[in-house]
Amino acid sequence: MFVFERGRGDIYLGTPGANEFALNAHHLVRRFNGTVYPTKDRSVVVKLTDRDGAVGWGETYGLVAPKAVAAIVDDLLGPYLKTLAPSTPDTAWDALYDLQRVRGYWGGYLADTLAALDIALWDLYARARGESLQAALGRAGAGALPAYVSGLPLKTTAERVDLAARWKDRGFDCLKLPLSATEDGDAPREFAALRDRLGDDHKIALDVHWTKDVAGMLALDRDLAPYDPWFLEAPVKPEDIAAQVEIARAVKAPMALGEEWRTEWDYIPRAGACTIVQPEMGHTGVTQFMRIARRAEAISSRIMPHATIGLGIFMSASLRAAHAAGAESHEYQHTIYDRNAELLDGAAPCANGAFQIPDTPGHGVVPNADGLAHLTELKL
Ligand code: MG
Repeated sequence: MFVFERGRGDIYLGTPGANEFALNAHHLVRRFNGTVYPTKDRSVVVKLTDRDGAVGWGETYGLVAPKAVAAIVDDLLGPYLKTLAPSTPDTAWDALYDLQRVRGYWGGYLADTLAALDIALWDLYARARGESLQAALGRAGAGALPAYVSGLPLKTTAERVDLAARWKDRGFDCLKLPLSATEDGDAPREFAALRDRLGDDHKIALDVHWTKDVAGMLALDRDLAPYDPWFLEAPVKPEDIAAQVEIARAVKAPMALGEEWRTEWDYIPRAGACTIVQPEMGHTGVTQFMRIARRAEAISSRIMPHATIGLGIFMSASLRAAHAAGAESHEYQHTIYDRNAELLDGAAPCANGAFQIPDTPGHGVVPNADGLAHLTELKL
């Protein structure tokens, strides 16, 4: 197991604001939602080698305490995985999850660790069959997956509108901005400026970043209605299912949830609280990503996966699983994706509004020499 680290010029979500400061070499706390964000790109990477010497690569979150993930593998999941008879990766996921489910270990670092192993197991499994991950999941062949531009991390509305227009010129007809990237949180004014410049057909979504209560969210939905938002994301505190359901029943805009979920068990009680699911491969792994997607599909909800910060192994798995699941669009972190795709062999190019997913074996990527240079073995 490795920690992936790479410094970056501009911090994710833009320059620190007033009263925001680096905690240490790795972390910054954003005041708008009290959440810790990384000052570097950082994740945990796992390399699995089977008895025959075949290799599969996986990845999960490592923004905080990457050694926690390594310790769970070292102490429990790694040794147990070696005892399991060869099977499909979803069977292995279930067996590993069962080890501690009755103690209430249903998420958090445990599920992240499962996700890293699961992605590597699916990579091994598909490669052993000589097929792509999307083929192993039921949809063979190459394909294009629509991409939406995520974030406009510049200081003023005028600069953000210019940036959005440049992406439009490059063939991207949909975008999402966070509520924090609006002047004084005035999302309707930001939407008005974007709508005015980009036209009526451009799809514009808002990430509320869990900052509203029910009344505040319903007011925001009303105020944005004239600008026809594509969707509104993460309205309230992520555990507050009752509030999520109440909002979803009353809003006009489509409601999107899911980036913090680990398993289908997180989705089941919220199936009525969103019409768009946003599973994050770095938390779910392939197995739970697909279970969430299949459940969403069964009730005609839309699939638009989340994209987090990392090397991009989980992103590659996410693109292929999203393609197999019939996703409508995938988040495109333009400040992260292409830059770190250079550290991988085989990454899907993103141009003219879509990821072009090749029909190569497994999830399709391996760290190249530059990528390996950014991996440090995790020693406990
Ligand atoms: Mg979000």
